[in-house]
Amino acid sequence: MSRYWSPIVDTLKPYVAGEQPRIRNLVKLNTNENPYGPSPKVLAAIRAAADDGLRLYPDPSATVLREAIAARFGVQPDEVFAGNGSDEVLAHTFQALLKHDKPLLYPDITYSFYPTYSRLYDIEAVEIPLDEAFRIRLADYDRSCGAIIIPNPNAPTGVALSLAEIETLVAGHADAPVVIDEAYIDFGGETAAGLISRYPNLLVVQTLSKSRSLAGMRVGFALGQRPLIDALERVKDSFNSYPLDRLAQVAATAAVEDVDWFETCRHKIIATRERLTGELERLGFEVLPSQANFVFARHPDLPGAEVYAGLRAEGVLVRHWNKPRIADHLRISIGTDAECERLIEVLKSLPPAAK
Ligand code: PMP
Repeated sequence: MSRYWSPIVDTLKPYVAGEQPRIRNLVKLNTNENPYGPSPKVLAAIRAAADDGLRLYPDPSATVLREAIAARFGVQPDEVFAGNGSDEVLAHTFQALLKHDKPLLYPDITYSFYPTYSRLYDIEAVEIPLDEAFRIRLADYDRSCGAIIIPNPNAPTGVALSLAEIETLVAGHADAPVVIDEAYIDFGGETAAGLISRYPNLLVVQTLSKSRSLAGMRVGFALGQRPLIDALERVKDSFNSYPLDRLAQVAATAAVEDVDWFETCRHKIIATRERLTGELERLGFEVLPSQANFVFARHPDLPGAEVYAGLRAEGVLVRHWNKPRIADHLRISIGTDAECERLIEVLKSLPPAAK
C-alpha cells in the first residue's frame, strides 16, 4: 500500500492541550490561565489598532514589541525573538538549536510538548527522571549531550531551580545550547535573563500567556545572544515570516509596559497560592512547593482520577494525567480567591478520606 505521509507521522503522539470547555460557569482551574485578565491598557491598545484598520500587513520583525521586551530585560532588541506563543518559539528552538549528534536532555515529568517536538523533528532525546521529591537533580545532567531543555519552574510540578543552579548547568555545558523555559517564572522563580550576556549557549524562553494574562493572543519570546536569535529568525522566516499579527504586537507591547498591573496580579496570585496550599494541606493533601501559578498535589488515600471526577461533577475543572508516577496527582491552577474557596468546599464534600 502506498503511503503519502512521513513515517514519523505514524509514531507521533500529539500533545493534548487542556480542555477548553464550552460551558461558561465552570470553575476553570485546568490550564494555568491568569484569572485577572490583561491590563486595561492592553484592551485599549487592541481597540485602537482595530480602529486603525487591519488592511496592512504587520511588522514582520515586531520591532516595537522587541524594543519593549529588550528595555524590560536590559538586553538589545536583536537579542529578542518574538513568536506566536512560547509553543511556537519552542518549536523553532527545537528545529534550529536542539538537534545534534548527541542526545537532547530533559526531565522525565516535564512539559509534555518536549517529547512531541523531539519526535516531530527526529531528535534523539534522553529523559532524566526527577528525584523522589520531584526535583530536578543537576548531577544527573552531568553527562555528554547535544543540548538541554528545562522548564524553570518545572511543569507540572511547579518546583523551581535557583538561579545559581541554572547558572551551574549553563556554565557546565558550554558546548551545548541550554534552553530555560520560563513560562511560570514570574510567580516566584528568578529569571536567567540576566545571564545571557555571559553565556552564549543560553536561551531563555518566556510567555505572555500566564503572568500577563494574554493566553488568547498567543505571544511568547526568547532572549539570547545574537547567533542563537539569528538561528531562530532563519527558521521563522522559512516557516512564517509574519508570526505575530498587528493586534498581538500592540497588545503584547502594552502588556510588557504596564509593570504596575503585572506586579499587582502576580502578587495576588502568589498570595492565593500560599493560602490554597495551606488549605489543601489541612485536608491531608501533599502539595509540592510551587513557584508557579498552579500547585501539584495528591491525597495519599484518594486516587487522583476519583478526585478529578468528583470535582468535575461539581463544576470544578482541574488537570489530571493518567501517567505512571503522577496518576494520583492533580494540577490545580491558581484562580481567584473565590474560585479556590469553591474548590476547597467541593473537596470537603468528597469521600471521607479527603477531610
Ligand atoms: N512552556 C511550558 C512549560 C508551558 O506549561 C506552556 C503552557 N502550556 C508553554 C510553554 C506554552 O505557553 P504559550 O504557548 O501559551 O506561550
